[in-house]
Amino acid sequence: MSDPTDSVKIAVLGCGTVGTQVVRLLLEQADDLAARVGAPVTLAGVYVRDTTVPRDAVVPVEALTSDAEALVDSADVVVELMGGVEPARSLILRALAQGAAVVTANKALLATHGAELYEAADAAGADLYYEAAVAGAIPLVRPVRESLAGDRVTRILGIVNGTTNYVLDEMTTKGLSYEDVVAEAQRLGYAEADPTADVGGHDAAAKAAILASLAFHQRVSLDDVYCEGITAITPDDIAAAKETGRVIKLLAVAEQADAGVTVRVHPTLISADHPLAGVRGAFNAVFVEAEAAGELMFYGQGAGGAPTASAVLGDVVSVARHKANGGKGPLESNYARHEVLPMDAAMTRYAVRMSVPDRPGVLAAVASIFATHEVGIESVRQMAGRGHAGLILSTHRATEAALRATVQELRETDAVNDVWSVLRIEGEA
Ligand code: NAP
Repeated sequence: MSDPTDSVKIAVLGCGTVGTQVVRLLLEQADDLAARVGAPVTLAGVYVRDTTVPRDAVVPVEALTSDAEALVDSADVVVELMGGVEPARSLILRALAQGAAVVTANKALLATHGAELYEAADAAGADLYYEAAVAGAIPLVRPVRESLAGDRVTRILGIVNGTTNYVLDEMTTKGLSYEDVVAEAQRLGYAEADPTADVGGHDAAAKAAILASLAFHQRVSLDDVYCEGITAITPDDIAAAKETGRVIKLLAVAEQADAGVTVRVHPTLISADHPLAGVRGAFNAVFVEAEAAGELMFYGQGAGGAPTASAVLGDVVSVARHKANGGKGPLESNYARHEVLPMDAAMTRYAVRMSVPDRPGVLAAVASIFATHEVGIESVRQMAGRGHAGLILSTHRATEAALRATVQELRETDAVNDVWSVLRIEGEA
């Protein structure tokens, strides 16, 4: 532990969207941070690949360095804002091994190498904080990890990727195609030039793994998460959702039941009355169900330089307090041993949209296929077409395996022309 009169030295690794704002807040709010921490907080340096590249004016040129190891070795707190696996992983391990506290926003690294990092932190007795890794500015990691530590979280439904929420929201409100909205989002800078990590659901899947690990007190990695993105969603899907009083959101769903844990990311139908349905644009929201607390909702900006820096600085204050005054944050809680179930075992409701020939007996034939696989039909909605009829069948809860077998048979029978789409339904009894 440092002498209380010593300053707490902060190394920032990476000086992009988030790193720049973290440096700005560290310098602009130095007096307030010192008062909150109980010791001066100083910037030890900022690691970048090329110190000669022009940077935002808030970043002092003299703070830049391309010697990451030396910077890490000089710091009490290392703030990793580079992203990616290497060199982030090695530098974090180096920092922890020396007893430095680490703050990171790197969900991709935590979701793939979390176990190694938590073990290194525990072995060194060092803090590892990552509030900004899930849902940007929204206080979520700490509430799930600490405030709900006395409760039993049963389910988390989250809109944890702003880009996909923006795309689906624009498709819903403006009736635009997926391709048109993504092109416009790229033009406005809301979507990356290569949007795969967002629209493919991979970014949300990394966050789902982190949230499930915290909520269920066991290790869940990216490989355990079923992941389906929004690229196949059509304006017809959006219109059909509206017909049934629902909207489509890309949800991260983590559930714990007696049989085990399931963690999945996919486009999901939710009732227009559900609190998550009102989450517009690029905002994020996470709906948590806990046995004693009941339903909780966390809402706010899930990305952006300043919002994400707010979460990073909150972590910096916490770990710097420990450096200045003693103490330590909670260790990783991974005592639980629930089985992480494959997607086939996931239980939910479904809406199957299909085209059937416009002739008698078709509905009975379709219903008998659902019955064969023990998938109960909750409602049928029919839309007339020329020579065919459009059907939307909403089911009761069934396993993914049973639904998959049902759809396979629907695709093979002559009682069905085409299965247009299958979407899972969440947030309804
Ligand atoms: P960014 O704008 O791409 O900035 C990354 C920074 O790290 C750049 O300064 C880059 O250097 C540096 N960097 C990358 N690889 C490096 C390497 N191998 N060696 C040295 N420096 C390296 O990224 P960001 O948006 O700030 O995101 C940073 C982290 O925060 C990521 O883990 C991200 O997932 C997470 N996060 C971001 C947001 C957000 O809204 N942006 C929200 C939540 C979490 P150059 O300047 O040389 O390119």
